[in-house]
Amino acid sequence: DGFEAAGLAEAVLRNVARCGYESPTPVQRYAMPIVMAGRDLMACAQTGSGKTAAFCLPVVSGLVAPASAAGGGGSGAYGRRDRGSFDRVAKPRALVLAPTRELAAQINEEAKKFSFQTGLRVVVAYGGTPMYNQLRDLERGADLLVATPGRLVDMVERSRVSLEAIKYLVMDEADRMLDMGFEPQIRKIVDMMNMPKKSVRQTMLFSATFPPEIQRLASDFLNNYIFITV
Ligand code: AMP
Repeated sequence: DGFEAAGLAEAVLRNVARCGYESPTPVQRYAMPIVMAGRDLMACAQTGSGKTAAFCLPVVSGLVAPASAAGGGGSGAYGRRDRGSFDRVAKPRALVLAPTRELAAQINEEAKKFSFQTGLRVVVAYGGTPMYNQLRDLERGADLLVATPGRLVDMVERSRVSLEAIKYLVMDEADRMLDMGFEPQIRKIVDMMNMPKKSVRQTMLFSATFPPEIQRLASDFLNNYIFITV
């Protein structure tokens, strides 16, 4: 039971092979089928467990799938429809929230590798650096956005990002985001999604620990979720 068993998209499987990953780590083995089945997930996993691929692979697969199902020749999901009349508001379909710019940059790198030759656009936005380059990337469209909470709120308030099309929401290292005081921003972000109904988006929460504050986030943001711990 390798990566094929999880039902990932063909293009994603090719990219996994390109990365040299031979078999899934435990968190990948448990999490991928749950996410592929459309279920919400609460996962307790440490850094180094392979958790980034555990959520990136099924999310990228889910973003690719509609385009290939429509017989579109496997090209980009974003640009084709919107490029002609681009309104400069990026409408990502997947959002990954991370506590720090280092982690966001790392997730961005992995998500880009797994999206190779899918036509999907992966964009990263974090604070502590001028917004200019990130805005220019967003203007070209974003299918999957990796962001730190403060910078994302800022961009949404400036109408550079719309969260109305979000289908997949991932919160990575949620315990660290709370430790850093990001809970108000996280709640604001979820409120800004035009699918506040948690049953329409698919939500994944990753955390190294599972204290009461994280349990509360899980019950507020997740819908009938499956809990795994590795
Ligand atoms: P993470 O826990 O997501 O930060 O991943 C830790 C490291 O393991 C990263 O450098 C990944 O590229 C690598 N990695 C993740 N999954 C696999 C796998 N299935 N096989 C080999 N390396 C992996």
